[in-house]
Amino acid sequence: MLQNFFTTNYYEQMKVQETQRTAKLLVDEYSRDPSGFGRLAQSASSTSDIFIRVDTDNGTEVYDSGSYFKPSNIAYDFETSTAKNQLESNSVDSVSLIAKDKKNDTRRLVYATYLDGRSSGSMLYIVAPLYPVQSTIVILQRQLKYISLIALCISFVLAMVIATRLSQPIKDITKSAIELSKGNYNVKFKGGMFTETKELAKTLNTASYEMQKTDSYQRDLIANVSHDLKTPLTMIKSYAEMINDISGDNPEKRRQHLNVIITETDRLNKLVTDMLSASRLQSNTLELHKETFDLVGVAEDIANTYLLLNEQEGYHVHFNKCKPTYVYGDKEKIKQVISNFASNAFKYGGDSKYMEISVKRSGKNVRVDVIDHGDGIAADELSHVWDRYYRTSANRTRDIEGSGLGLAICKGILVLHNADYGVDSKVGEGSDFWFEMETVRPPKV
Ligand code: ADP
Repeated sequence: MLQNFFTTNYYEQMKVQETQRTAKLLVDEYSRDPSGFGRLAQSASSTSDIFIRVDTDNGTEVYDSGSYFKPSNIAYDFETSTAKNQLESNSVDSVSLIAKDKKNDTRRLVYATYLDGRSSGSMLYIVAPLYPVQSTIVILQRQLKYISLIALCISFVLAMVIATRLSQPIKDITKSAIELSKGNYNVKFKGGMFTETKELAKTLNTASYEMQKTDSYQRDLIANVSHDLKTPLTMIKSYAEMINDISGDNPEKRRQHLNVIITETDRLNKLVTDMLSASRLQSNTLELHKETFDLVGVAEDIANTYLLLNEQEGYHVHFNKCKPTYVYGDKEKIKQVISNFASNAFKYGGDSKYMEISVKRSGKNVRVDVIDHGDGIAADELSHVWDRYYRTSANRTRDIEGSGLGLAICKGILVLHNADYGVDSKVGEGSDFWFEMETVRPPKV
């Protein structure tokens, strides 16, 4: 449709424009240099395959392209005079009309304009053949059919290649996912050559790594928890039996044995509380009771219990504080964080028995640091210490009590408070567990 309709119109329009351009050139040349006009007209006639006729006072000049197209003189005279009449009666500068030659079924464009202004009466006629474009359209249509067929074949082959290349990695990924669902964490996802499938494979590899990690933590936890629960339970049972069998009548011994039972029960209680907090944090059901409180005071309360240790041989506990500084948060939970940092500093502080708690202002924030001179934490384990059930490889083997939940709870609490937190540590030198909270104005009293 496009070809049939547009090609003919477009071709004729182009022909009119081209003829107008040639006419303007000739008119300009005539007024500039009449002697060179003949040469220009002849060359324009041959290059553009047109007839040019010039009627002046000196007579008529005809420039012929010499092509096969030659209107009969009668027709030619008739058409040019029709154009001239139109030009004169419409008082326009130029006229273009399309003439049909019925005899040989051809069409031509007849263009007429004044050569030297309306008054002089000199005329310029250009007759340009309009070749039938129908045959060209038929050729183009045939070509289009072949081109479409070739394009269709190429796109089919290309589509097949791309589809196989795209579907293969997806098939591989599906296979690997089935393996993963069976608990085989060693399976690797391959993404093929496309960015999207590569990204998908990368994400699944990360997910499988995380699942593997959680799974191994979970296993560790069950081992740890059952060990941690078993030890105090065994102690409680044995001491209860001892009281029953031996020390029941001996007040001094009985008191000692009951104390062991109480300590072990406390340990059990703490473990169960920790597990409960961790699970509440995970399910986002831990409630905060926020208030404005003095963070320095809270840290001091904890530091005081540890400062008493300085009375014993070998302990070095320090507390550095700034003036009272208020923050908005859950006082008890923040206290739990500092306590946890402090108890870890002693648990993992080794023989140095050194601990420093410091609370200092840092711009709009207040920062709490709990520093020890223990074995420190290896760089590749630093980010994991905040994970649930994670215990560093150095401490896993030692007989230090712990569930790996303390720091995960601290992290959960600090995140709920939008606090910055972190740990700086060097193996052999010690660790610095810290957090930073925004300060607020003191409450009005
Ligand atoms: P827990 O102490 O009950 O194992 P935490 O979550 O408090 O659990 O600590 C996680 C792990 O981080 C510990 O098992 C220990 O390996 C490591 N860790 C924590 N605090 C310190 C510290 N001050 N120095 C060295 N390692 C530490």
